[in-house]
Amino acid sequence: MASRDASTIVWLRDDLRLDDNPALTHAVDVGLPLTVVYILDEESPGVRPLGGAVKWWLHHSLASLAAALKDAGSTLVLRRGPAGPVIRGLAEETGAKHLLWNRRYGGPERAVDAEIKTWAAENGIDAASFQASLLYEPWTITTGSGGPYKVFTPFWRACMASGEPRKPMDAPTHLPSPGAGRVASDVLSEWSLLPVSPDWSGGLARTWQPGEAGAHSRLDDFLDGPVNEYGDGRDVPGVEGTSRLSPHLRFGEISPFRVWHEIRLRFPREATPDVGIFRSELGWREFCWQLLYVNPQLATRNYRPEFDRFEWQEPTAAELEAWRQGRTGYPLVDAGMRQLWQTGWMHNRVRMAAASFLVKNLLADWRLGEAWFWDTLVDADAASNPANWQWVAGSGADASPYFRIFNPVTQSKKFDAEGRYLREFIPELAPLDRKAIHEPWKSLGLEGYPAPVVGLPESRERALATYQRLKDTQ
Ligand code: FAD
Repeated sequence: MASRDASTIVWLRDDLRLDDNPALTHAVDVGLPLTVVYILDEESPGVRPLGGAVKWWLHHSLASLAAALKDAGSTLVLRRGPAGPVIRGLAEETGAKHLLWNRRYGGPERAVDAEIKTWAAENGIDAASFQASLLYEPWTITTGSGGPYKVFTPFWRACMASGEPRKPMDAPTHLPSPGAGRVASDVLSEWSLLPVSPDWSGGLARTWQPGEAGAHSRLDDFLDGPVNEYGDGRDVPGVEGTSRLSPHLRFGEISPFRVWHEIRLRFPREATPDVGIFRSELGWREFCWQLLYVNPQLATRNYRPEFDRFEWQEPTAAELEAWRQGRTGYPLVDAGMRQLWQTGWMHNRVRMAAASFLVKNLLADWRLGEAWFWDTLVDADAASNPANWQWVAGSGADASPYFRIFNPVTQSKKFDAEGRYLREFIPELAPLDRKAIHEPWKSLGLEGYPAPVVGLPESRERALATYQRLKDTQ
């Protein structure tokens, strides 16, 4: 029998953590019986369905969160359906008087939250929201005239000028139990988030540890070494020169405030250039979210409307499949696409090269690539993915200039000179030495690796001419 005693609901979304979780900490202060819920919402209007790799991650992250909540004396309630009706039903079941969550910034999600807040106010429920996922909330960083920034550098300068992000809060050691308001939960395995027949998740499981503990150990490993060489190391795909925090940040398993202040603790005085560069990468994440906040349709609409006239070419089925499967004949692109398929992640420099190859050398609409990354990345992020695709395509904010066409051969010679990364993901290239490996089509008798799907010089000329035509008609 459901209790009618006053209680609290904490609704967790992309903040699957106990550490620095203001909604949970506030629930402890309220002190009433507590229900912690996660809702799998694939039905509210406009909410983007999750991709396959992210679903795999979510399953494991929720399992880890449930165990952590249990250790703290609480329990995780899982519900599925459109969030509005689910929350209303849960409030009814538990007799909730407080509804707490950490804010999110996508358009459809904000609409859902606003509707629930209105309903709560009308029904005597105190709904409160908190800042947890972004260091700088989009509406707080504006230009002199009050509008949003369109260029990263002044945006980040304004963030830095607005003051140090708040200190993170420690994880509560003990959470109020649900008491008599305990309600039923779905069974995680019945949500079918994990792939079956085929189960392609072996490489993901070998690479990642979803959940808070995995996130904190990634941060520690990064701060124990790679951060000191980050400025150069971040461009070399064959070494672990970056933090690999992206999926953990995507799911809020670690707070950006925690990351920020852990860096502060380790580098208490003047930050080194490497630390400054790393911080500004966190800034790119903030910038992408600000872009999405202002342009909720970032994943479907060109940020620069003149690109609506761009003459994208429909790639042939064979070209698209070659790109997806890492069989374009260009080793850097192929190694990246295979790394993505095997591990759910791709090095940033290679993401730029692989994306440039699709939108410039194949002249395919950036939305095709964005959708593939959305489905295959474990860090697929509603803001960073479309913002970066549009950056590469030239249709985005502060975008890469149209004449910048990454040459995958030059890039791999420069950033993977020994071919270490290429060999890791393309075993067919193992017989080639460090010089030959970047241009395998020049090696006679190499078996099992495809010839290039397009020539670089001619596809580059075609792209430049197409971009020039757009420019000429502006
Ligand atoms: P680090 O170098 O350690 O950086 C630390 C953190 O800063 C990252 O975890 C990430 O949160 C943030 N960050 C770094 N670079 C960027 C960037 N360019 N834009 C936004 N945030 C950044 N990143 C995602 O998190 N999700 C995506 O879906 C995504 N899609 C991308 C698609 C394309 C075509 C490109 C070119 C880039 C994309 N990125 C995306 C950005 C970037 O590639 C990844 O954030 C980065 O590779 C993650 O690795 P890391 O955690 O080791 O990064």
